[in-house]
Amino acid sequence: MDSKKDIKSLNLEELKTELESMGEKAFRAKQMYEWMHVKLARSFDEMTNLSAKFREQCKEKYEYTCVKPVRIQESKIDGTKKFLFELSDGNVVESVWMQYKHGNSVCISSQVGCRMGCRFCASTLDGLERNLTPSEMLDQIYAITRLTQERVSNVVVMGTGEPMDNYDNILKFLHLLTDENGLNISQRNVTVSTCGIVPRMRQLADEKLQITLALSLHATTDEKRRKLMPIANRYSIKELMEVCRYYFEQTGRRITFEYSLVGGVNDTEEDAKELIALAKPLCCHINLIPVNPIKERDFVQSDTGHIQAFKNKLESKKIHVTIRREMGRDIDGACGQLRRRHTQEMQNPDGLSQEEN
Ligand code: SAH
Repeated sequence: MDSKKDIKSLNLEELKTELESMGEKAFRAKQMYEWMHVKLARSFDEMTNLSAKFREQCKEKYEYTCVKPVRIQESKIDGTKKFLFELSDGNVVESVWMQYKHGNSVCISSQVGCRMGCRFCASTLDGLERNLTPSEMLDQIYAITRLTQERVSNVVVMGTGEPMDNYDNILKFLHLLTDENGLNISQRNVTVSTCGIVPRMRQLADEKLQITLALSLHATTDEKRRKLMPIANRYSIKELMEVCRYYFEQTGRRITFEYSLVGGVNDTEEDAKELIALAKPLCCHINLIPVNPIKERDFVQSDTGHIQAFKNKLESKKIHVTIRREMGRDIDGACGQLRRRHTQEMQNPDGLSQEEN
């Protein structure tokens, strides 16, 4: 284990304290913070207005996280780019860059792997490897900004991992990301998606941030939800609805429900009716996601007409609903698919190329 402190995970106050203990004036911290979080420097060596001696001292004392792109895939359909980044310990995570009319959006991972076990999700098939640090989450965005040379305006924590299972690091990351001395992304442009860890959602509500909380609901009864998501054995839909209401009361922010439509599983008229009943009393938005089938499971997508009918049904009851555009389907778009393929290729290069060809 590296015992050096991770300098990019420190907030400005903490950085000031650190550098002061090295005998530096407070403005040095401000300069260094700007190098890390505004100019997106890749190393201490780029910080040219700091003395060479001081930079050497920092190298001795601190770890400077920098993710390394190992694969970039670009969708021919919509220009979406998927990045596979290597972390300093050799683990890899994936992030996605999407262009929308309202700006550029990055989807980041919050953990290496995931232990939540959702049945349709590729990220969880090999379990959890480890949590990401605040700097590793930030650096996915910084690296993409450097590589695309474009400003990121929206961030969604919807890649691999369960953010509420890495709560302290996520919270620190959110503060750094939206800090006016850093990249200064508006809290309103940040979405964190959770499979529904109720106590952590409540804790997040108490932070009173202006971010959007998205709940992966995916089913309207506990029984059906348990078949798709093991976390439903821990927390009931009733508890989830209560904490969503609490989040809205504390923050004034409308909740998003994500609902991945799986053919023949959760896409019937009855499901739509039940979803309306859940959504109606809350101030929420529903995002329908056509399930992206992964080869390890036999779930299938609902057909397009069916998805549209499901949406119309919700709209007829004045529920705010959208269908998520399928971005980058041709580039392992679903959570965890690219990382999984990469890892398998590394372990068994011959086997996989055969399977793919
Ligand atoms: N752990 C967080 C973030 C994960 S991914 C969460 O559970 O919310 C973001 C969303 O994509 C979640 O709603 C997740 O359930 C959904 N998802 C994962 N794999 C999918 C797939 N193959 N098809 C459709 N949606 C999927």
